[in-house]
Amino acid sequence: MKKKQQQQQQHQTELPSSLFNTSLVVAMAHRLCLCCFLYYFVSILQNLSLVDAHTNLTRPSFTPINRDLYHSSSDLLEQIHDLVQRHPDKLTVDTVKAGNRGYHAEITVVTYCQSRREGDDGSKFRILLSFGQHGRELITSELAFRILSILSEEQFLPNMDPASLTSTLDKLVIKVVPMENLNGRKLVEAGDLCERRNGRGVDLNRNWSVDWGKKEKDYDPYEENPGTSPFSEPESQLMRKLAISFDPHVWVNVHSGMEALFMPYDHKNITPDGLPSQRMKMLLEELNKVHCHKRCMIGSGGGSVGYLAHGTATDYMYDIAKVPWAFTFEIYGDGAASSKDCFKLFNPVDLATFNRVLNDWSSTFFSIFKLGPHQMHRLLSKASGSKLDKWVSIDEYLDGYLMQRRNRYGKKMEVLDVGMQEIRTYFRLFMFSSVLLMFMFCSRISKNKGSRPIVSATPQ
Ligand SMILES: [Zn+2]
Repeated sequence: MKKKQQQQQQHQTELPSSLFNTSLVVAMAHRLCLCCFLYYFVSILQNLSLVDAHTNLTRPSFTPINRDLYHSSSDLLEQIHDLVQRHPDKLTVDTVKAGNRGYHAEITVVTYCQSRREGDDGSKFRILLSFGQHGRELITSELAFRILSILSEEQFLPNMDPASLTSTLDKLVIKVVPMENLNGRKLVEAGDLCERRNGRGVDLNRNWSVDWGKKEKDYDPYEENPGTSPFSEPESQLMRKLAISFDPHVWVNVHSGMEALFMPYDHKNITPDGLPSQRMKMLLEELNKVHCHKRCMIGSGGGSVGYLAHGTATDYMYDIAKVPWAFTFEIYGDGAASSKDCFKLFNPVDLATFNRVLNDWSSTFFSIFKLGPHQMHRLLSKASGSKLDKWVSIDEYLDGYLMQRRNRYGKKMEVLDVGMQEIRTYFRLFMFSSVLLMFMFCSRISKNKGSRPIVSATPQ
C-alpha cells in the first residue's frame, strides 16, 4: 500500500493525457474552491466507475512472476486447505462469500486454536491477520502460508524452543486471511502486475468508513479508488463482519512496497493519545530493533510516509471496531526497482531474499504472539486500576463508542456503526444533489430570461 510515491511518478508518465487531466481538474477545483460541486461531481463520476477502471491494463511490466518461488493463488489456497486437513486438532478453515451488482468475492479464513475441542471460552487472546489485500503484493500471502505452516508445526522458526512456543500458542486464537483480494490477485496473475485493487477496480484499503472518500490533491483512481460508498465492496463487507464477530485484540494488515511497522492513524499525521498508543509504539520499536534491524519505518501511517490515506482498514479497526492494537506492516520493498517493474518493486525475486523475508517476518509475528497477551494483560490491569470511563466527545460517540460498548458486552454492534456512516454519506450526497439542482435551476432561469423576447404585457 505504501508505494504511492513511486506510483505517482509512474502514473505521471504513463496515464493517458485525458485521465491525467481528470485528476488535474479535481485537484484544481479542490484547491481553488471555485465551485465545490465540480469537485464532487468529478469524484462521483469516478466512484460510479464512469471513468473506465480498466483503461490502465496496458502498464508495462518487466520482471515476470517467479513461479519457482511463488504459488499461484489457486495452488496456495489448495495447499492451505490440505494443511488444515492434516491438522484438524489445531486448524479450521472457512470460505465466506458475498456479492453485489454482479460482482462476487470470496475469502478464505483459517483459524488456529490449540485443543480446539474445548472451544474458545472467550478468555483467549485474539489475533486477526490479513494478507494480500492488494493484488500485486504476492509475498504477503506467501508469508501467511509460512506462518500457518509454523503454527501447525510442519515448519520451524530458528531459535524457537518448541515447548515455549506451545505454551505461548495455548493462550491464543489466531485468524488468518491469507488472500483478502483473490479477484485482484487473479488480475495480477493474468499479467497486470501493477494492479492493487479488487476485481472491479476498487482499492480495498480505501473502502472502509473512517474518513472515507476524502481525496488528496494527488488522488489517483488507478491506485486508490475508494468505491461508491464505504463498504461498497464484498471483500470489505466480509472483513468487517469477520472483525466484528471475532472482536480481536490485535489486527495486522500485511502489505509490501517498503519496510515499515505502522500504527494508526493513516488519515491524519498523528498517533492516538494515551497509554495504549504508547504501548503500541513501544512494541513496534522492539520489533524494529529485534527483527527489522532498525531498517523499518515506524509511527503513524499518515505521518511517516508523507501522504495521508483515507478509508483504511487499520483506522477502522482502531477507531470503530476498537481493536486495542491495530497495525499495518509493510514487509518488503525494492527501492532500487523501476516504478514500472511492479513484481520486483513489491516482491523479492531471488530465493535468498524470499527466504530472508519470510523468516524475518514469521519471527516478527511470533514475537507478537508471545508479547501480545503479556503486554495486553499489563495494559488492561493498569486501566482497570484507573478511571475506566474515558471522556467521550460527540464525534467519538457518533463514530461508534456506544456501538463498541455494545460489542464488548452484547456483540451487536454492526447496525449502529453502519447506520451512522451511511447516514453521513447520504447526507453529503443529498447536500451535493441539492446544490447541483439549485445550480441547474438558476442557470435555466437566467438562460430563459436572457433569451425570452420582450413582449408587451397588454393584450392586443
Ligand atoms: Zn498494499
